[in-house]
Amino acid sequence: MPAITTAQHAAFPTPSQNLQRELKDILHQGQPAAQDLLEKLLQIPSTSGNERDLVMFIARWAKQNGFETDLFESSETELNAYRQATLRHIPLAGRPTLVITFPGRGPGRSLMFNAHSDVIAPGDPQRWTHGPWSGKISDGRIYGRGACDVKGPLASALAALLALKSAYPQGLPGDVRVEIVPGEEDCVGLGTLTSYVRGYHPDGLIVLEPTEGQPRNASRGGVRFAIRVQGKAAHGTVKWLGIDAIIGLRAVLEHLELMETEFAVPDANELFARYPLMRPITVDHIEGGNWQGATCDLAGCAGYLELLPADDIEAWKKRFQDRLCELQQNGKASGCRLDIEFSEDYGGHELSAGHPLAQCALAAMTDIGLTASSMSWRGFNAGCEAGLRWGINQTPTLVWGPGSLEQAHGADEYVELKAVHDAALSFALCAIHWTTLPVK
Ligand SMILES: [Zn+2]
Repeated sequence: MPAITTAQHAAFPTPSQNLQRELKDILHQGQPAAQDLLEKLLQIPSTSGNERDLVMFIARWAKQNGFETDLFESSETELNAYRQATLRHIPLAGRPTLVITFPGRGPGRSLMFNAHSDVIAPGDPQRWTHGPWSGKISDGRIYGRGACDVKGPLASALAALLALKSAYPQGLPGDVRVEIVPGEEDCVGLGTLTSYVRGYHPDGLIVLEPTEGQPRNASRGGVRFAIRVQGKAAHGTVKWLGIDAIIGLRAVLEHLELMETEFAVPDANELFARYPLMRPITVDHIEGGNWQGATCDLAGCAGYLELLPADDIEAWKKRFQDRLCELQQNGKASGCRLDIEFSEDYGGHELSAGHPLAQCALAAMTDIGLTASSMSWRGFNAGCEAGLRWGINQTPTLVWGPGSLEQAHGADEYVELKAVHDAALSFALCAIHWTTLPVK
């Protein structure tokens, strides 16, 4: 794995010690306000489909702080030209996208931060020590659904934007933007597509996700699948006359586990080699059984197959489907009929570690002494918004943010306040490095 060394980015001008100190001071002074902002973001529920209140709140915050804002709703018609980018087309009405701009004075490169406004449902509130919408601070951590995925990283980017505006009242050489897009948790890429179609094509992109504060230069592609298992109902007392879809579903689930092992070619991509599963198959939904006392005539499951950046998604869909069809053909699905549907797919991305954007991120980390000697470039172990612009026009992209996937989507989700603060400083420094580079 390519180790991160400081020699590689010697070509990038380092912001003076004075400037770094000034930014640090600004961020330090702004810390109570940034913390207060994150608390409020966490107190506004924004599950997929209900992002509006959160986005309106951030738009007001941006205006109050003197930023340009573009708040818009996209229609399905506008996205039709890029329909191939997302198969599952969820309704977008009432789900605005927001782009906040800190205009540059030219002629440097532009940088965009991308955050999704939605969070997944919190589940049973009883499982939370502090309420899922509490924004409770305890022992240096802030708790709530979305704390690390992705309101904490978003708060870092907003604090960075504010600090840059204060340190550079005339603007950096290039534009710096934060886009807040809906719907990532239920249809990866769709929200970012709304901003792309609106005309936002940055020279560099940082997708905010919890990456333990370290920049990641790759992310996964993937597909969402749904498997229907068709059996035949019969009274339980003569169940040999029926075909039990629950037994068929059990065979499907066992088969998926085997497939996960089979797909895990260990050296398929070294950026993902440290994760225990090379191509995870996660079943997140099962259903079946309609009547008491009868064999089940219809059952099913759904989930994600997660892929590597260079995987051919269509070829993998075919392989997935073929492997499951074998189960039906060799009779191991207990006579059930299997139907497989793919309801969503999204591409991954992989930026060379030598790319100037990766090097600018590294320079920013080194500026503030955050580069761990053991750190090496690796992929973000999930699908995210990074693949959308990468797939359309290879926008240089990193995934980066405070917090860890280990806390995301569970009860008691949290992020360390210090990590949010550190990320704000590294984001600001990275923006200085990147926007100072001339446009190609
Ligand atoms: Zn996320």
